[in-house]
Amino acid sequence: MKILLVEDSATLRHAMCGYIRADNHEPIVAKSGEEALQIIDNIQVDMVIMDVEMPGLDGFETTRLIREWLDERWIPIIFVTGRSEDNSLQEGIEAGGDDYLIKPISRVILRAKIRAMERITTMRDQLNELNRDLVNISQRDGLTNLYNRRTFDEKAVAQWRLTTRTQQPLSVLLIDIDHFKQYNDFYGHQAGDVCIKAVAQSLTDSLNRPTDLLARYGGEEFIILLPDTPASGAVHVGEHLRKSVEALRIHHKKSPNNKWVTVSVGISVSNRFSGNSLSNLISLADQALYQSKGHGRNRVSTKVHLPEKAVLVVDTDQQALETISQCLRGNCSVVTTDNTEECLQLAEKISPDLVMMDTFLPGLDSYTICQGLRSKENTLNIPLVLMSDCTEAQLKKISREMNADAYLQKPIDDTQFNCKVSRFMH
Ligand code: GH3
Ligand code: MG
Ligand code: MG
Ligand code: MG
Repeated sequence: MKILLVEDSATLRHAMCGYIRADNHEPIVAKSGEEALQIIDNIQVDMVIMDVEMPGLDGFETTRLIREWLDERWIPIIFVTGRSEDNSLQEGIEAGGDDYLIKPISRVILRAKIRAMERITTMRDQLNELNRDLVNISQRDGLTNLYNRRTFDEKAVAQWRLTTRTQQPLSVLLIDIDHFKQYNDFYGHQAGDVCIKAVAQSLTDSLNRPTDLLARYGGEEFIILLPDTPASGAVHVGEHLRKSVEALRIHHKKSPNNKWVTVSVGISVSNRFSGNSLSNLISLADQALYQSKGHGRNRVSTKVHLPEKAVLVVDTDQQALETISQCLRGNCSVVTTDNTEECLQLAEKISPDLVMMDTFLPGLDSYTICQGLRSKENTLNIPLVLMSDCTEAQLKKISREMNADAYLQKPIDDTQFNCKVSRFMH
C-alpha cells in the first residue's frame, strides 16, 4: 500500500517510515498539512497516517480538507497524537479520521492498525467491484448483454440534448428480425434465443464508433442511435447490418421471403438541428421499418425528418421555453439557447424562420443581439419577436425601438401566441 505519512517531527518521520517499509508498504512523506494536500492532489494513496499537532494546518483541519477533496472516495486516515483525552479523540473522528495512535508509537500497534485498515480497504474494493457489476447487470439485457431499453432511453436523452446543442445530424435505426414468430414456432424458443443472440452480436460487430448506441429494444427488435451521422451514413450502416445478418446464414425454413434469417431496418434522420423530439424521431424510424416490412422485408427504408420551419428561442425562462415548444409542436423545429453570446452564431448557422428573444437576459443585451441580427446579410430579414414580463406599454416601446416584428407578454398563452406568432410560421 502507498501510505502517506504526515508528520512534522523529523525523528518520528524517520522512525515510522522505517516501520512502514519494514512491513512492505511504501511510505510517502509530507512534512506539513499543506504538503499532504498537494500530494493527495497528485498521487493516489491508499492510507494516511496523520500527525495531529503540526504548525500551520493541523491534522484535524488537513483531514477535513482531504475528505472534502476526495469526496466519495474513502481512504483510511489514522491520527497520531500526543493527547489522549476523550474530547480530542472525538474531535479527530468527527474531522473524518478512522482511528488513532497515541505517542510514543508502538511498532506493534502501528502494524496492527495498518493491517486492520488494510482489511477494510480490501472490503471496500470488493464492494465497489460488486457495485459496478450490479450497475452493469441492471443496465444490460440478460440474453444479449446489450443495453436494455431503460438504459437506452437514459443514454438517448443525454445524446439528444448534446445533439440539439451541437446541431449535428442524428440517425435512429430500428432493426426487427423478419418472420421471427415462424422461426420460434418451427425451431423452438431456445433456438430463437440463440438466433437473437447471434443477430445481436452481428449488430455489435457492425458498429465502429464508440459513440454509437445499440440496445435491445424489444423481443426481436433492436435500436441504434448514430450521433453525427447524416442519412447517407445511416443508410450505409443499415445496409451493412442487413447484409451481415443475412451473411450469418441462419437457416429459416419457414420464412416466406428468404432461406436465411433476415432483418428489416427502418431509419430516421434529423438533420435540421433539434427536430421536434426524440420520440418523434423514433416513431419515424418505426414508420420506416413498417415500410421495409411492407415492401418485402430484408431491406432498409429511410425517413428523413425535415421540418419546414425552424424557430430560435433565446431565453432562460424554462416555462416560456416549454410553452413555446408546445405551441409549435409538430409544425417546426425549435432550437433553444440561454446563451446570448451563442445566439448570433446559431442564427447564422441554422437560418431560422423566426427568432424569439427575451428582452432582459444575462450576457449580451437584446439591443446588441438585435443589431447583430440586422447587420448580417443572412440574418437580416429573420422576423424577431420580443418577449418580456414588463408592462405592455413598455414592451411596445422597446419593440418599436428595436424594430422587432412582434412582441409577447409573459406569461405566454396559446391565444396570444396564435394571434401574434403563428403568422410567421406559414
Ligand atoms: P415480422 O417479419 O413482421 O417482424 O414478423 P415477426 O414474426 O418477426 O413479428 P412478430 O412481432 O409478430 O413476432 C415476434 C416474435 O418474436 C414473437 C415472439 O415469439 C418472438 N420473441 C420475442 N422475444 C423473444 C425472445 O426473447 N426469445 C425468443 N426465442 N423469441 C422471442
Ligand atoms: Mg507534530
Ligand atoms: Mg417485432
Ligand atoms: Mg419481427
